[in-house]
Amino acid sequence: MSNDYREKLKNAKRIVIKVGSSTLTHDNGRLYLPRIDRLSMTISELINNDLEVILVSSGAISAGMGKLNLKERPRIMGIKQALAAIGQCELMNLYSKMFSTYNQIVAQVLLTKNDVDDPVKLKNIENTFENLLNQRVLPIVNENDTVSTYEISSMEQFGDNDTLSAVVAQLVNADLLIILSDIDGFYNGNPKECSDYVLINTVTEITDKERDFAGGQGTAMGTGGMVTKLNAADMVTKSGIHMVLANGVDPLIILDILEGKNIGTLFVGKEKISRNTDK
Ligand code: ADP
Repeated sequence: MSNDYREKLKNAKRIVIKVGSSTLTHDNGRLYLPRIDRLSMTISELINNDLEVILVSSGAISAGMGKLNLKERPRIMGIKQALAAIGQCELMNLYSKMFSTYNQIVAQVLLTKNDVDDPVKLKNIENTFENLLNQRVLPIVNENDTVSTYEISSMEQFGDNDTLSAVVAQLVNADLLIILSDIDGFYNGNPKECSDYVLINTVTEITDKERDFAGGQGTAMGTGGMVTKLNAADMVTKSGIHMVLANGVDPLIILDILEGKNIGTLFVGKEKISRNTDK
């Protein structure tokens, strides 16, 4: 049965890919350039194959830290916001350069929770995404940290890019959300705390049991941990969107996921995902 679900991923046409800070950065907070390059190559290849892709990318604060040569992530919100503003520019500059190597145009989309709650703004956002995708441009999305402290304080609303990626996946009616993290998938407990925990291949229902598995917060670089990834899975699967959580150590893994290979954890969407048949 699990393989039947995986087979469906081959039909995914519109895909949202989220990469976490732990994938994009070194432990010292600096950007991990070869990985960003592999990600750019992989996504460009998907778009060459007529898939529609949206990238939700963290890493702005890390990029800002690198630019200012800071060794430690600051704690004061205003400084984090300033770093995010510096780093977002730096990050997009880097993406723009790397993607242009593969002949791929990118666009920056910065969102806040208020934007998607307002019907007029929501329509504008939807239109922007549709037009960018029609032009085969890759939208690169992040929370607008200048006007919103949610992503960097992780207190409420979007709270983190896991939730943002789920909101975007729903908004564009994606077929699949792929979350790349520093872990092979969803385990029955935090594998960094105990090596006995095992990887779960397929989740068809998110219950209290899965919530227990997710436990608390993630790494120092990440903001979400497994709780927000599970919430993202809950949100999208209810909208009929599949979600795969996998290790972003080599972003080429995305190609294997789309070939239906048994990689990471698949959270099965409630309805059929194929846009080829229902659109
Ligand atoms: P990212 O920066 O990619 O968003 P996070 O650090 O926020 O990553 O979240 C991933 C981390 O969540 C893992 O490295 C792991 O330590 C932790 N985690 C907690 N519970 C689980 C679980 N049940 N399965 C896998 N990872 C878990």
